[in-house]
Amino acid sequence: ALREQVARRNQVEAQLRGAVTRGELHLNFQPFVPLQQGPYDLVAVEALLRWTHPDLGRVGPDEFIPLAERNGTIEQLGAWVLHEVCVQLAAWQRDLPADRPFTVFVNLSAVQLNDRLLAMIDRCLERTGADPHRLGFEITETAVLAADDAAVVALLGRLRERGCQIALDDFGTGYSSLSRLRATPLDLLKLDGSFVNRRSADGREQAILTAVSQLAREMDIQVLAEGIETQEQLAAVTALGFDLAQGYLLARPSPPGSVCGWLADGLSIPLAELASHAP
Ligand code: C2E
Ligand code: MG
Ligand code: MG
Repeated sequence: ALREQVARRNQVEAQLRGAVTRGELHLNFQPFVPLQQGPYDLVAVEALLRWTHPDLGRVGPDEFIPLAERNGTIEQLGAWVLHEVCVQLAAWQRDLPADRPFTVFVNLSAVQLNDRLLAMIDRCLERTGADPHRLGFEITETAVLAADDAAVVALLGRLRERGCQIALDDFGTGYSSLSRLRATPLDLLKLDGSFVNRRSADGREQAILTAVSQLAREMDIQVLAEGIETQEQLAAVTALGFDLAQGYLLARPSPPGSVCGWLADGLSIPLAELASHAP
């Protein structure tokens, strides 16, 4: 079994190098849905990378992103994702009124948080005409910790100077400390799905949800609940004052065409009805 695992890993890693040039990548988008009454049911989407290889079939990002980080291909993949996102965003923003909130979030690896990143982002924005105010970046706690503190904080600051938003992804699974949270320039906290869908009988998860929601409010950061799969979970995070939710219950990651539909017609989720199913 171990030998098979190693063989698979080597194969995935080797094939990854050509994935961009062979045109095997595409993006899906999953909405962020505001929970506290507003005119829109879609305010942002997250871009999620998909890879379909002719022999390997569909390979999930949880499998190939760590390998890409290890062998350095992440720079090439990251550049492709950013360019694709900017091209899409430039097309979507043309039909949007200036006061209509809509942001596209891109996941960044720790490995990408270096000097080359800003230049690459500026180049993409310039080439595509995408509005930096409609672009956001998701980084993980571990990414913030892994790299040199001051350099990363400065980098995030420069992204925000351009108008881009910064989200802390998978919050609660890494090694954040509160002092870290205070020092990092942030617009959005994304609480990892494991806190929402692993509800224990003793109410500890509930206590964590309550505390995170309050913490974010006090710090003037928006807070999103990831991995919402049931009406009960949606009702719980709505009642606790979470600003946004993301998850299969609301919408699966979907191709760009779906985003056009969502922007034009809304997601058509009966939010009030769903959120009234108290746990
Ligand atoms: P993430 O950034 O935390 O993305 C959320 C993941 O949760 C996505 O998995 C999404 O499909 C999944 N998800 C959404 N709603 C639900 C739900 O209700 N239940 C459950 N169980 N899962 C849900 P996906 O697309 O497989 O991506 C996995 C991870 O791969 C991402 O986690 C992110 O860390 C990484 N990733 C994806 N695209 C990129 C990319 O372009 N660049 C980088 N660096 N990483 C990426
Ligand atoms: Mg993410
Ligand atoms: Mg996440």
